[in-house]
Amino acid sequence: MRTQIAIIGSGPSGLLLGQLLTEAGIDNVILDRADRDYILGRVRAGVLEEGTVALMDKAKASGRLHAEGLPHDGFSLAFDGRDHRIDLLGLTGGKRVMVYGQTELTRDLMDRREAGGALTIYGATDVQPHGFDTEKPYITYEKDGTAHRLDCDFIAGCDGFHGVSRKAVPEGAITGYERVYPFGWLGILSDVAPVSHELIYANHPRGFALCSMRSETRSRYYIQCALYEKVESWTDDRFWDELRRRLPVHHAEALQTAPSFEKSIAPLRSFVAEPMRFGRLFLVGDAAHIVPPTGAKGLNLAASDVNYLFSGLLEHYTDRSNAGIDAYSQRALARVWKAVRFSWWMTTMMHRFPDSGPFDQKIQEAELDYLTHSEAASKALAENYVGLPY
Ligand SMILES: Cc1cc2nc3c(=O)[nH]c(=O)nc-3n(C[C@H](O)[C@H](O)[C@H](O)COP(=O)(O)OP(=O)(O)OC[C@H]3O[C@@H](n4cnc5c(N)ncnc54)[C@H](O)[C@@H]3O)c2cc1C
Repeated sequence: MRTQIAIIGSGPSGLLLGQLLTEAGIDNVILDRADRDYILGRVRAGVLEEGTVALMDKAKASGRLHAEGLPHDGFSLAFDGRDHRIDLLGLTGGKRVMVYGQTELTRDLMDRREAGGALTIYGATDVQPHGFDTEKPYITYEKDGTAHRLDCDFIAGCDGFHGVSRKAVPEGAITGYERVYPFGWLGILSDVAPVSHELIYANHPRGFALCSMRSETRSRYYIQCALYEKVESWTDDRFWDELRRRLPVHHAEALQTAPSFEKSIAPLRSFVAEPMRFGRLFLVGDAAHIVPPTGAKGLNLAASDVNYLFSGLLEHYTDRSNAGIDAYSQRALARVWKAVRFSWWMTTMMHRFPDSGPFDQKIQEAELDYLTHSEAASKALAENYVGLPY
């Protein structure tokens, strides 16, 4: 089999890239080791920057997103028993974010891809990229016990942090930068009205908490937890009690509770691999970088990588110019590092570290007080939160 672009991974980056290419008439095949239902069952990100929404528009997959997504004009920073609204719209001159679950975005892209007849091979095992340092790259994989080969012009490694694409690069050709945080997030989903119609990021001496949502009737709540914690030891009641303790009183009293139907612990990490291009192999999204979810940047960075790679590939096929693909790694990394910095900064400011004491808590509260009372500082926060320009 032959295609122009072989895409490994059917997460948001692979699907979005595939859909943009299909709309532009560039042939592509997506391979994923998981099946469709498994991918749709992964509960992850939920805050979309305007740039991500614009790419979904361009991919012609944004109908439901605009109908059901919740535009958010601001969010709250809670600390020292009070909270302060960050007016995204006012501080950025009219920009906002859209709350729409990653599973929904993935489903929309899958549905659109299927309707357009583009090929996705789910359940592909032993996927391996080859020959990307030559003019003739290809991928080998197994499907239902049979070995296959897919020849292509380029390979897009959209296979997440644990995928094969980054691992296929010779060790000396790639540099990894990493920060592992000494805590995780315990998150639940519950069919209950959100405590506030905007997100609340809470700094508390007991640890960070986030009140988020997926819709007007479905809430997504998180609390910072130790890495040794086990989900099984967190009953719903224990979770709700701990969340209440970390919120200002008026929010704690307004919090509605109901049984959770998803509960998981995610470790927090920052990671960047440089460069993001190796001959005819491109790393895209989580395959190249991971950020802690504090700044809501993971999915949005995957989308901005796709933007740069898609425009480079389009230029290659329509203008016979390699300028865009040659610049891909540099352009993507410049934006990636700014989002890595922002996520690291928010994580550091909002969480309790194992070795921090009352002094560190006071410093965090002073920073939050400054941030919420200085227009310049609030503007810098808002500008980064809604997403830096592509
Ligand atoms: C638990 C969790 C919670 C998160 N919460 C947030 C959040 O709140 N906010 C936020 O912004 N971001 C969050 N993120 C990050 C966000 O979900 C990711 O940035 C986003 O999914 C990146 O998309 P991607 O397509 O690059 O990678 P992925 O979504 O990881 O997709 C990769 C795909 O590649 C496939 N694959 C992997 N290995 C192989 C292989 N060997 N062969 C074939 N296919 C393979 C996988 O099955 C998967 O479908 C979270 C991530 C996790 C893991």
